[in-house]
Amino acid sequence: METKDGCDPLLDLPNHIGGEEVFATGGDWIINNAPSTGEMISRIPRSNQNDVDNAVKCAKEAGPGWASLTKEERAGWLDKIADILEQRIDEIASLESLDTGKPIRIARAVDAERSVANFRFYAKQIRELEDEEFRMKNATNRVLRRPVGVGALITPWNLPLYLLSWKVAPAIGMGNTVVCKPSELTPMTADLMMKVIKDAGLPDGVVNLIHGTGVEAGGPLVSHPDVQFVSFTGGTTTGSIVAKDAATSFKKMSLELGGKNATIILDDCDLDRHMEAIVRASFLNQGQVCLCGSRILVHDSIYESFKQKFVDAVERLQIGDPRNPETDLGSLISPQHLEKVKSYVHLAIEEGGTILTGGGVPSISSEFEGGNWISPTVVDGLSPESRCAMEEIFGPMVTLHPFTTDEEAIQISNGTRYGLAGSIWTNDSTRGEKIAKKMDTGMVWINTWLHRDLRVPFGGVKDSGIGREGGKWSLGFYSEATNICIMDD
Ligand code: NDP
Repeated sequence: METKDGCDPLLDLPNHIGGEEVFATGGDWIINNAPSTGEMISRIPRSNQNDVDNAVKCAKEAGPGWASLTKEERAGWLDKIADILEQRIDEIASLESLDTGKPIRIARAVDAERSVANFRFYAKQIRELEDEEFRMKNATNRVLRRPVGVGALITPWNLPLYLLSWKVAPAIGMGNTVVCKPSELTPMTADLMMKVIKDAGLPDGVVNLIHGTGVEAGGPLVSHPDVQFVSFTGGTTTGSIVAKDAATSFKKMSLELGGKNATIILDDCDLDRHMEAIVRASFLNQGQVCLCGSRILVHDSIYESFKQKFVDAVERLQIGDPRNPETDLGSLISPQHLEKVKSYVHLAIEEGGTILTGGGVPSISSEFEGGNWISPTVVDGLSPESRCAMEEIFGPMVTLHPFTTDEEAIQISNGTRYGLAGSIWTNDSTRGEKIAKKMDTGMVWINTWLHRDLRVPFGGVKDSGIGREGGKWSLGFYSEATNICIMDD
């Protein structure tokens, strides 16, 4: 169904600027395909500098009114958004599964529920936030938290609403106004969030959203002179471009970037107890989670038995129809990403590795022939210095490496440019903690993975990013601390 201005109301998603649904001023579109089938599911505006200017202008105009609310009032808005999102939780799960190719079970348990939780969590955090006071002998210091201004929130395609809500909630909760730029590959739940925000009755212009490519819409947004802070989650290469663009005008920056995380299996690990969790840490969301353990370091005394049990468990994963609640693994996000992962499978063979399982197209129903499918892949026999073991693949492919001493495991773990996360599996948590303290990462889990308490710091070191999100770390980033020192009378 096409209207006279060339739009199809059933397919076309708008930008959301100043409370209005508008299309790109240039009139151009980007087609969005379902990753599991390759079929077109929507079109999004191909926004450009003009659209960015309009969105930033609206955010700037809404700023003073929004900043003048009390924190209790803003927390109330976050709760209201959470309530309406929760009423639409099944729709969020279906849209996220359709748009990303991930299984509906994961979309519901991870993406949909966490998006609601993010708004609720920050409502509570902001309500409980107190100004700090430091008493001197003859004066009192009061530290206030003031809004930073207009923010650019840029998010990737792997956990679309989960990561967008993780930024929007604390940013507006602290009194800022924002312009969001979701990945062009996964626009559906960002659109839903904006409709929820409209239904909640949030003042126009507090949250704006433009669709489009990173270069045409994301770049101008980051560089915009009226944007005071940038919160970016995405790849390290893009992060470096964003950092340069933001640095020239001294914007506040938070960068959550790529990872090449190690999963360390110690000789005292109870393999039968932990195998399911280790497989999940390797392949959740088809390995497209920044925290996934893509290098598995195994003590050489249990290497062979681990290898056999791990491969058996991976081969039991059910790949296929993302709508089926029994499905464990869906499709990859795009044909380009599938090609990238396949190129690493070829590289693994060139580098002398052995493919223990996977590497090819899984047998799935003909309905999914146009999708981006690859079986979960386990590679043995590669050096920890091989490219496959050093570069972020961000797909369902892991490499296995033996080690002899705890020191060697730490050395291999720290041997990449990345430093996001890691996990250690052992019956001796004291030994695990000793190793964790020597790992150059922002986060380490012992005998668990992706076990998230939203109050704790989240983020990486080295090329995995700058800054921390989560709890008070987010509240700190999304505010400016101002000290007022009052001399005693
Ligand atoms: P990209 O870096 O390709 O893109 C991330 C976002 O940045 C997208 O919205 C993209 O838009 C936009 N973008 C691209 N170029 C620019 C630019 N020049 N200026 C401003 N914005 C731009 O990452 P992916 O979407 O491919 O996501 C996968 C990556 O994200 C992996 O490396 C993964 O490790 C990382 N990630 C990190 C997490 C963390 O917390 N550390 C969590 C989740 C993922 P568009 O896509 O439309 O081009």
